[in-house]
Amino acid sequence: MRFPENSRPRAEVLAQLKGLKSGDADWKKGRVPLYVFKATTEAAEVGQEAFNEYFTENALGGKRAFSSLKRMEDEVAAMALDLFHAPEGAVGNMTTGGSESILMAVKAARDFARKQRCDKAHRGNLVLPASAHPAFNKAALLMDLEVRRVPVTKEFLADPAAMAAACDRDTIMIVGSAPCFPYGAIDPIRALGAVAGSKNLWLHVDACVGGYVAPFVRDEGYPIPDFDFAVPEVSSLSADLHKFGFAPKPASTVFYRDAEKRAGQTFSIDEWPNGRFVTETLTGTRAGGAVAAAWALMQTLGRSGYRKIARELMTMRDAYIDGISAIPGFRVFGKPHLTLLGFGAADLDMGRVAEGMAKRGWVPGMLKDPPGLHLMMSLLHADARSDYLRDLAASAAEVRTSTGKAKIEAVY
Ligand SMILES: *Cc1c(COP(=O)(O)O)cnc(C)c1O
Repeated sequence: MRFPENSRPRAEVLAQLKGLKSGDADWKKGRVPLYVFKATTEAAEVGQEAFNEYFTENALGGKRAFSSLKRMEDEVAAMALDLFHAPEGAVGNMTTGGSESILMAVKAARDFARKQRCDKAHRGNLVLPASAHPAFNKAALLMDLEVRRVPVTKEFLADPAAMAAACDRDTIMIVGSAPCFPYGAIDPIRALGAVAGSKNLWLHVDACVGGYVAPFVRDEGYPIPDFDFAVPEVSSLSADLHKFGFAPKPASTVFYRDAEKRAGQTFSIDEWPNGRFVTETLTGTRAGGAVAAAWALMQTLGRSGYRKIARELMTMRDAYIDGISAIPGFRVFGKPHLTLLGFGAADLDMGRVAEGMAKRGWVPGMLKDPPGLHLMMSLLHADARSDYLRDLAASAAEVRTSTGKAKIEAVY
């Protein structure tokens, strides 16, 4: 495609743009089990309105030009620190996503470790449950760290004893997820805290997907193990606003138990003609709208609003689990704490089941280990349930009564 020579009418271009969408998956009807989230229509509208109000402002300029954005970002962090039982002196900020939050936490841990060791070139390793997010590998690739993934238990949880055994003197961080993406189960953060405490290690909790919903699911009476700063050995925590915080993308948060631990996160660069350049993020320019929207949503919903959403989410999830478990041979993997889950039937080629779902108009969420399907459900998926379960049963029956080999490969 060539760069356009001439202008075109705006209406024509926007109409074309809308038309381009027609080939996309129908996420509004719950046919995409990842990437997109929705709570209520009101929450979506609040997010959009607040975002548009700050459409042009840049959160990079929060300190010098847009003090309102700085204030809102600080307040988002403060409200979240309260939610996550952080002690006095804890700090945090917004980022553009879970991957950036994790990247920043790993950098902070790496620099902390180098300082402690008085070794500016120390090459550390990260000890992760096998179920941890690839963002830790990204961070390791960028900072030349070693990644040690440790198999999870039969219940699909981080294995604290095996992770302790995988640590050595060069370990700079151990990780637990709240929950992990593949199985939706919250790792035993208290037991990982005991490992971190006994070995004097940095424990990061990746609450990217669950951080802004698990507290409210707990409020509704579902069992949620301690996963945040209530566990005294937790050094840092990441939590995405643009997932189950229901805020518009791009918005995440990263927190530290104290300012000393965050020190390594801060970029402070004074080697160019414009003077000192200081950011808490890898990115420079950041959408002001994302900050304003996250703030407005927290203020609009409050604990009671998020609790109501959590209740609806869990009722929906329980119905999905009942429906999946009622299909012959199918079982949910482990005990998911929230609305993410993996499931499969050991006697079926789950790749072929996924192909059956794709043929019926669903984007199949997939799991490789064990072979299965995956769901990350928001309220977009409530109305889709009976269709989904009907098509799942039909796809499974088709695979059971025919032969063939799956062409599809598990892909995120
Ligand atoms: C989504 C997710 C991430 C990464 O977040 P992005 O916003 O996609 O960069 C990290 N960890 C977990 C558990 C996640 O689900």
